[in-house]
Amino acid sequence: MRKEEQFKQKLLVMKEDTSHRISAIDRDIKHEGMTADWAEQATERENDEVLESLGNTAELELIMINNALKRIEQGSYFSCSLCGQDIPVARLELLPFSSHCVSCASDLEH
Ligand SMILES: [Zn+2]
Repeated sequence: MRKEEQFKQKLLVMKEDTSHRISAIDRDIKHEGMTADWAEQATERENDEVLESLGNTAELELIMINNALKRIEQGSYFSCSLCGQDIPVARLELLPFSSHCVSCASDLEH
């Protein structure tokens, strides 16, 4: 199997996983089939905030995964989207949805 194909499979699994996580969080936020008294509703509102931020993280991750899949289709998966240099395979194995080389990524963080 080509290296690109391996990453694609990995990303598709992650995508599946993340989508499930998002829909589970959405279900929790909507409290389907749940009845609550006032005290419970207050706790649930606090939980909702936590859930929402988890949901946002998951959604962001999904965007990055989709972006990486697009980059595989375009054949640009292994090059940095900023400077065009090769992204080390070891880095992609750790972060399959990263689209920057090590030095650009650290530039972005600072
Ligand atoms: Zn770069």
